[in-house]
Order: sequence, then structure tokens, then C-alpha cells
Amino acid sequence: MPTTMEKVICTTCPKGCTLEVTRDGATVVSILNGCKRGHEYARQELTDPRRMVATTVRIDGGVHPLLPVYTSAPFPKPRIPELLKTLREVELQAPVKMGIPVLRNVLGTGIDILASRDMKTR
Ligand code: SF4
Repeated sequence: MPTTMEKVICTTCPKGCTLEVTRDGATVVSILNGCKRGHEYARQELTDPRRMVATTVRIDGGVHPLLPVYTSAPFPKPRIPELLKTLREVELQAPVKMGIPVLRNVLGTGIDILASRDMKTR
């Protein structure tokens, strides 16, 4: 397979370096520019991109109709639409305490969905 060169902008720190990554198929051959943290970021981004996800789920009996939630760890990017579909089907019951897992091991990823805030009853 021919080698390819891609540019990846590192978002690990505010410097925002442009890294030049050379790959041979799926194998990273070299990374130019940036630091060690940036190189780890580029490898992850090109082989298993992940993002923190913050959204809301429905909650019954609370002072608001929606509860903000977030992933306990960066979530696999290609599966985010599937995650959002799953979360659209969730309906919790108030009260809820900030930080509690509202879904454990979501979609078998080992990642939990956590409440971002308390939600008292109406
Ligand atoms: S490569 Fe290093 S210095 Fe550059 S943005 Fe990433 S973490 Fe910051």
C-alpha cells in the first residue's frame, strides 16, 4: 500500500500545532512537528478518534424537563449517532443527584453516562 501524508491539527493544548503524519496503510510511519502528547493525540485521532459527549435526556417529575448528561470518558466518534439515539429513548425519574451514572457501560463501551447537575422534584 502506498504511503500517505495527512495533516492533523492537535487540540491537546492552545498552541494548536499542525502535525504531519505519514502512514503506510493503517501503520503510522512518522509524525513531524509537535510534542510527544501531540503525537499520541494524532495516533489516537487517526486510529480510534474519540470525543467527550454532552447532551440532555428527558426526566419526569423534575423542575426542568431535560437533564444535562455527559460521557465519563471520550466516546468512539463513529458510534456517537448510535449513542445519541440510545439517549433519546431514556426517560429518568426525578430526583437525580449530580454525578450519578444514569446509564452504565453504554453500548458495551465501558463508558458511563453521568448526570451533570442535581435535578429536584417539582
Ligand atoms: S503538539 Fe504539543 S505543543 Fe502542539 S498543540 Fe499538541 S500538545 Fe500542544
